[in-house]
Amino acid sequence: DRLNNNFQFVDVGRTDPDKKDILARKKQFVEIYDSYTPREAAGQSHRCLACGNPYCEWKCPVHNYIPNWLKLVAEGNIIEAAELSHQTNSLPEVCGRVCPQDRLCEGACTLNDGFGAVTIGAVERYITDTAFAMGWRPDLSKVVKTDKKVAVIGAGPAGLACADVLVRNGVKPVVFDRHPEIGGLLTFGIPEFKLEKDIIKKRRDVFTKMGMEFKLNTEVGKDISIQQLLDDYDAIFMGMGTYTYMKGGFPGEELPGVYEALPYLISNVNRCLGLEKASDEFVDMRGKQVVVLGGGDTAMDCNRTAIRQGARSVICAYRRDEENMPGSRREVANSKEEGVEFLFNRQPVAIVGDNKVKGVKVVTTRLGEPDENGRRSPEPIPGSEEILPADAVLIAFGFRPSPADWFEEVTIETDSAGRVTAKEESEFKFQTSNPKIFAGGDMVRGSDLVVTAIWEGRQAAEGIMDYLEI
Ligand code: FAD
Ligand code: SF4
Repeated sequence: DRLNNNFQFVDVGRTDPDKKDILARKKQFVEIYDSYTPREAAGQSHRCLACGNPYCEWKCPVHNYIPNWLKLVAEGNIIEAAELSHQTNSLPEVCGRVCPQDRLCEGACTLNDGFGAVTIGAVERYITDTAFAMGWRPDLSKVVKTDKKVAVIGAGPAGLACADVLVRNGVKPVVFDRHPEIGGLLTFGIPEFKLEKDIIKKRRDVFTKMGMEFKLNTEVGKDISIQQLLDDYDAIFMGMGTYTYMKGGFPGEELPGVYEALPYLISNVNRCLGLEKASDEFVDMRGKQVVVLGGGDTAMDCNRTAIRQGARSVICAYRRDEENMPGSRREVANSKEEGVEFLFNRQPVAIVGDNKVKGVKVVTTRLGEPDENGRRSPEPIPGSEEILPADAVLIAFGFRPSPADWFEEVTIETDSAGRVTAKEESEFKFQTSNPKIFAGGDMVRGSDLVVTAIWEGRQAAEGIMDYLEI
């Protein structure tokens, strides 16, 4: 009966998976969303209208076959849904958890207008989680092996996606990463309350069984030279991310008690994973008055990590208004629920204190005229200075590209911002100025999203195969 009801979206409202109890959320480094039951997943999937021209697919950066797999879930065909989902996405269970769906697929859903968009992200996650639990694994038994092998530098989403497409086409990928686990920022950046690390461990196991080889704790340029890779492999893909920390450029930034966002988050991940090398690596916000500066995903992750560590208070100061925040709205809402106080239209001008941080001096801003990109810049209101008391300040202004010192040696060109030049429109997609080397993800686009890195890694794999005439 349910399957014959085309007006399911009227009878059944949008229901996100349940969230864990708020008291537990404030203490635990575990994912906050529960999973759907099979019945809930089918009911929510059946709300899809199966639009003739599905906008959700176009807005999804990897162009997932969304209405098709929603239909399969509504019918209970989880294995077929998993097969279909993996045709376009190398890490669907990750994207289902961390994509800003409100700006992407779900933002484009026809039902987003009043009825509530289909919960595309939660269903995408459900499909792979459930298929894996049922014992399903990608079937590579029909793949015809070639004699080609490709070195992939970086086991982040871009590198993994490139390796996924290569191995499914009979090319052997060997993935190098300086970290002890795969995932890039999925492991050493995004906290467990958005993405539990077991998900990545499971993926490493699945990818290894598919034929990918991982050489971890191996930094290219230090433990192995780029020339060695050029000599040993038929092509190279670089998915090395962006890691130059953006400073505020105001006085007091060097005071003890001021921390960069990523080392702070990584110190917490290392403690959770038992990877800490020395106990003084860990930055603990227990009992502290914390001020987080920034308004993107990294800032939200700092806010919520500090809450879970037992901070006395967490204030997040952002220089534009809530409407103009770059991060996912879902994570802003989750931060608020967990007790983060937001101060919008506040721009930091100095960090104050003698031998250690005592506070952050901010001015109130108003939004000026739109710039050439249509974004309104914040302008300080004279005489509006105030000091926010703080024992610890976390700076989360984002990251700039971090070109390697060996780029010149192998003639890799970058643009004026330091991003590697590699284009989707090239004869061989995402080829760099060195014909044997391809690149994608944050190091080409600048800091962006997991799903856009996956798209570029997958497209680059096609470029590599065309180049190798496979
Ligand atoms: P990365 O994930 O950065 O991976 C690059 C890898 O290359 C790293 O593992 C690095 O160790 C390795 N590497 C670099 N140089 C070398 C070398 N010389 N030798 C060996 N290995 C090397 N995006 C979302 O979509 N949703 C979110 O909720 C979200 N939250 C975020 C939260 C934080 C705190 C941060 C920092 C980012 C977040 N992002 C989020 C952005 C997202 O994580 C990135 O856009 C994405 O991971 C980029 O993928 P990538 O593969 O290009 O690079
Ligand atoms: Fe939506 Fe991201 Fe999944 Fe695409 S990959 S369907 S944008 S959650």
